[in-house]
Amino acid sequence: MTRLVAGNWKMNGSLAANSALLEGLAVPVGVEVAVCVPFPYLAQLQQRPAGLALGAQDVSEFESGAYTGEVSAAMLADFGCRYVIVGHSERRALFGEDDEVVGRKARAAMAAGVVPIVCVGETLTERDEGRVMQVIGRQLEAVIKVLGAQAMSAVVLAYEPVWAIGSGRSAEVAQVAEVHAGIREWLRRQGVAAGSVRILYGGSVKAENAAALFAVPEVDGGLIGGASLVARDFMTICRAAAGVV
Ligand code: PEP
Repeated sequence: MTRLVAGNWKMNGSLAANSALLEGLAVPVGVEVAVCVPFPYLAQLQQRPAGLALGAQDVSEFESGAYTGEVSAAMLADFGCRYVIVGHSERRALFGEDDEVVGRKARAAMAAGVVPIVCVGETLTERDEGRVMQVIGRQLEAVIKVLGAQAMSAVVLAYEPVWAIGSGRSAEVAQVAEVHAGIREWLRRQGVAAGSVRILYGGSVKAENAAALFAVPEVDGGLIGGASLVARDFMTICRAAAGVV
């Protein structure tokens, strides 16, 4: 399947900084590339490099109405978002999003035709306790419960070990391979067409380690935080995903 590289700008950027960054982006052939930007910049990104897909970083679980401060999936669709990140570990840890909320957000996105990039992953303590697949299974179960096994195959998953995000310390290739295979097996056991689910890796992917991570057969792309803010690095990562190193 075509790999997907999605940049997560997080709460960074300005009109001027975004313009400069976008000038340095050219989507290589053989890979799908998306940028998930803060809500106010969805308008600016209506003008963007050819082939670059648009995404957001969060979405309301509600459809519309009296939910001050929320942004609906229909609004994201209105601005041409193909993707939305849901359940990022920063939202789980800092904004109290639990597995059920993440499931409902994924459902809201799907209902509006926006593909959720559902983030799952363990903390270092959970890894040390040998509970990696138990935690990920619990996170995935909440999503499959609301979407059903059939719709689950249209979701993008991102394995993001919490300890690897923004830490400069990527997971080892062998750890990534083991967890991605574990997720695929878990999905299969739930009756999901697991072979068609894109499973991205995220957590300190950099220009220097991208090729090694994308060489893992179970890795279908990457979710890139810090390095997506540097055009040169992001492009190197995208080329690695395209197989053009
Ligand atoms: C992320 O925010 O999803 C992420 C993977 O961040 P970083 O690449 O900076 O570790």
